[in-house]
Amino acid sequence: INGAVLTIPMAIEESSVVAAASNAAKFWSTKGGFTATILGTEKVGQVHFMYCGDSQKLHQFFEQYKTALLASTDEITHNMRSRGGGITALSLVDKSDAITDYYQLDVRFETQDAMGANFINSCLEQLATQLKTLAAKHPDFSEKEKAIEVVMSILSNYVPNCMVEAAVSCPVNVLLPTVEDSKLFAEKFVQAVRIAEVEPFRAVTHNKGIMNGIDAVVMASGNDFRAVAAGIHAHAAASGQYRSLSKAEIKDDVFKFSLRVPLAIGTVGGLTKLHPLVRWCHELMGTPNAQELMQIVAVAGLAQNFAAVKSLVTTGIQQGHMKMHLLNILNQHQATESEKKAAIAHFKDNTVSHHTVADLLAKLRNT
Ligand code: NAD
Repeated sequence: INGAVLTIPMAIEESSVVAAASNAAKFWSTKGGFTATILGTEKVGQVHFMYCGDSQKLHQFFEQYKTALLASTDEITHNMRSRGGGITALSLVDKSDAITDYYQLDVRFETQDAMGANFINSCLEQLATQLKTLAAKHPDFSEKEKAIEVVMSILSNYVPNCMVEAAVSCPVNVLLPTVEDSKLFAEKFVQAVRIAEVEPFRAVTHNKGIMNGIDAVVMASGNDFRAVAAGIHAHAAASGQYRSLSKAEIKDDVFKFSLRVPLAIGTVGGLTKLHPLVRWCHELMGTPNAQELMQIVAVAGLAQNFAAVKSLVTTGIQQGHMKMHLLNILNQHQATESEKKAAIAHFKDNTVSHHTVADLLAKLRNT
């Protein structure tokens, strides 16, 4: 990744995911490797509240007290500010078109190496308390306007400005051993990704393949994979239709495959420093900071997606899957080491299924 060789831990129940990621890593290791770029690190939080009254007066109130609202969080943000983070923007959003009397405080944060959920939620709850207190005392408000009702204060897991891009590219003609196969492969690959851009049924499975890689590394790094998944799927549907997260193109005889995903993850906080295996995983990756971990996770997603689409447009997905699954089936039948060896040799040229494996073992055991 960006010229460095890394070992990436994955925690997942599907063994073929690890094999596919390794396969893609090996493939790209001789073609320039992966690049990864941080496009932004902004996190989002909202105070959702009801204000019954003159909208103009609420906007004036907000402008008058914005500094006081922010100052009320000084104690909470002190350490984060000294690390270069903190609250970066605070605005009032009128959502009364959608729900009568509904407004938001929209708050933007930089949380450095933390995912930031607890920090953000603490800031938001403080802002909410201060909002109510200031409104209750505001001389220009009527009694109804003074009675702001805070519905909830919570971070958003949709972080479109906390984005990372991973990419691979190489001349089309070096993709496969022959130039002819390479051209055909690149064209089919691009078609497959275009289908996932326009066809939601395919897009969901295409993105599931990306999440195979992303979830596995997010989980191994002790991060919140539900938060990551919710944000990524929201991004995939941001145009109003659920679409592929990755893009592929051939331009000037160069094949390029890339992925953009929003990722709010941390290398401090949560259980990142507490869980012994998680701590070990961070060491395995070279103790990355949050931005480096974002890059690693995005690359794992792209590698996984590359491997899946590559098999889909060439051999089909089942060949690799069933080869991996062969060992699981053999273990279910308590196969001995010599039976496993014989089965691996046999299934080099034969189709793997529960039934064919059972038949072969029966034959081996009867001779
Ligand atoms: P946290 O509160 O455990 O730790 C983060 C804290 O570490 C920071 O607030 C800061 O005080 C400190 N810190 C030390 N060095 C730092 C550095 N270099 N950069 C930044 N901060 C540094 O963790 P968190 O990140 O606030 O929250 C993550 C946890 O919150 C996750 O486990 C997640 O599951 C959970 N959570 C998620 C949601 C959600 O996603 N909706 C809601 C609530 C809680």
